[in-house]
Amino acid sequence: MIIVMKPNSTAAEIGAVIARIQKAGASPHPIYGVERTVVAVVGETRAVDPKAFLQMPGVEKITSISAPYKLASRESHPDDTVIRLNGITIGAKELVVMAGPCSVESRTQLMETAHAVKEAGAQILRGGAFKPRSSPYSFQGMGLKGLEILAEARETYGLYIVTEVMTPQAVPMLAEYADILQIGARNTQNYGLLHAVGRVQRPVMLKRGMMSSMEELLMSAEYILAGGNYRVMLCERGIRTFEKYTRNTFDLNAVPVLKQLSHLPLIADPSHGTGRWDAVPAMARAAVAAGADGLMIEVHPNPAEAFSDGPQSLKPERFADLMQQVKRVAESVDRALSTVPEPA
Ligand code: PEP
Ligand code: MN
Repeated sequence: MIIVMKPNSTAAEIGAVIARIQKAGASPHPIYGVERTVVAVVGETRAVDPKAFLQMPGVEKITSISAPYKLASRESHPDDTVIRLNGITIGAKELVVMAGPCSVESRTQLMETAHAVKEAGAQILRGGAFKPRSSPYSFQGMGLKGLEILAEARETYGLYIVTEVMTPQAVPMLAEYADILQIGARNTQNYGLLHAVGRVQRPVMLKRGMMSSMEELLMSAEYILAGGNYRVMLCERGIRTFEKYTRNTFDLNAVPVLKQLSHLPLIADPSHGTGRWDAVPAMARAAVAAGADGLMIEVHPNPAEAFSDGPQSLKPERFADLMQQVKRVAESVDRALSTVPEPA
């Protein structure tokens, strides 16, 4: 249910509506739009009587949200969500590019990559310190040391950091180092983890599970929003199909469809979506043309020697070329590449 406030409703009127929802045992989620405020009512709504709200000062009307993902849906929030980091926005006209290695492998490897992606125009550095590997015998990431190296790269190059968090216990620590917390495809439906990132005030990038439908992805986003963290972006990273020539099938359909269903920013990850570096540029361009708000691209100075995901990683020169192409595609659909933040 959504309580739509009148355009000139006062803070006290909105506060009274919120208090009444709480008294009835449900959870109020006010959404402050440019023109008006709406208050989404979720949770235990049986004791909430819509008629009682209609009589309250400042209330214009009551509507219902038909989608099961109440807070993630466009119905509750018609305007695009824009996530603000210090100097950049995610979900507005400017596209963001997150680039870097699959895993942080050493200080030298990360600093070299950070320098290259910054020069090419990326704003956000990616790199896993805690890696969800299919085999327990594969490289599991550098852990805390990896986070310290990421933090050093942020200071040196003025890039934001996105890195994966795998357990609820690690959320507070990761939230200290990262500007954006990544939930990986293997954890899209790890509800304990979703609860935990819902309780911190750090933006979250939620990846689509390899077997998740778009609706399941949006329901997972709903966990984070319902927890009170509204700074959530979705990431299409490919799904599993019968096709063998690519690691996953990058679901380009998801870009326009998720943008219609939800107000949350959408990032496309053609690196995991295809699993092959030679297909990454084409799918990156396609995703931008289709309306993605940003890209996640794996870049490695020496892909042949990478500890993880070498076959899908671009060399820095190829990444720099791709950035030029992306810029042109972005302009052709009335978007622009985000400018690079200044070092802190
Ligand atoms: C990654 O970003 O390196 C990663 C593990 O991605 P995914 O969770 O999409 O497989
Ligand atoms: Mn990877």
